Amino acid sequence: MSTTSVERKPGWLRAKLPTSSKYREVRDLVDQNALHTVCQSAHCPNLGECWSRRTATLMILGEVCTRSCTFCAIQTGRPPELDLGEPARVAEAVRKMGLKHAVITSVARDDLKDGGASVWAATVRAIRYRNPGTGIEILIPDFRGKPEPLDVVLDARPDILNHNIETVERLQRPVRKTANYNTTLGVLRHAKSRGFTTKSGIMLGIGEQHEEIAKTLRDLRAIDVNILTIGQYLQPTPKHRPLDRWVTPEEFQEWKDFGLSIGFDVVESGPLVRSSYHADEQSAMLQERGARAG
Ligand code: SF4
Repeated sequence: MSTTSVERKPGWLRAKLPTSSKYREVRDLVDQNALHTVCQSAHCPNLGECWSRRTATLMILGEVCTRSCTFCAIQTGRPPELDLGEPARVAEAVRKMGLKHAVITSVARDDLKDGGASVWAATVRAIRYRNPGTGIEILIPDFRGKPEPLDVVLDARPDILNHNIETVERLQRPVRKTANYNTTLGVLRHAKSRGFTTKSGIMLGIGEQHEEIAKTLRDLRAIDVNILTIGQYLQPTPKHRPLDRWVTPEEFQEWKDFGLSIGFDVVESGPLVRSSYHADEQSAMLQERGARAG
């Protein structure tokens, strides 16, 4: 599988610029409702495209994360007081955006006893109440692997439970510090044991080897994860973990083919893919497959 020099960003990583009126509508909605998005906080390269499609990934529990993963651009430190009006504002924003499929994520809140699980559950319920026809996908932290907070969130009945493995087993500690490969698998396994559709994602270009990627994908399939996203790692600032390599579009296609061959229902794989990229389309594909099979 071929690579290219890490000196210069390859042309295939050029994202679309935000220009449309829909983009401005989403930006105004986020600003006026004091909301946070991972699109902005993580410096996502797809912001122009996604917001122009009127999709954004709202981030709850504030914008300050208690962890400091070496790949992630989100601000870290001591978070401010919980904002108890947040679930209702998020639900209203989903309504105003007219989302058929809402993706919500959060910072890690290891400072809270329940890791923020009660706010997560309140947010899912508020979205459901105000938007009964909207699919809800949640991209959650690991709640330190504790089943109790995870069950609080699952009891609110999201449609898709997404929790990223992020990288291969060998690189977990240098890349994620506090998180852990087996804890992540445990979160996904627990959600599956309760009958949820599960989803996970991995970044490439961070130092992993070919066989390690294949093993990670097999490990996710072994616990029946349904949807997989694979994207290029981009170093957010010089202080973050250095880039190892640019992965070519051809290699992303090979990993997509491999993922489908080992049984994932949907694989989104490409240089600009992020865990919430085209999440609405992945959910629709999964439903179509289910309808064909059923
Ligand atoms: S890929 Fe996800 S995080 Fe990035 S802009 Fe789109 S919705 Fe936001």
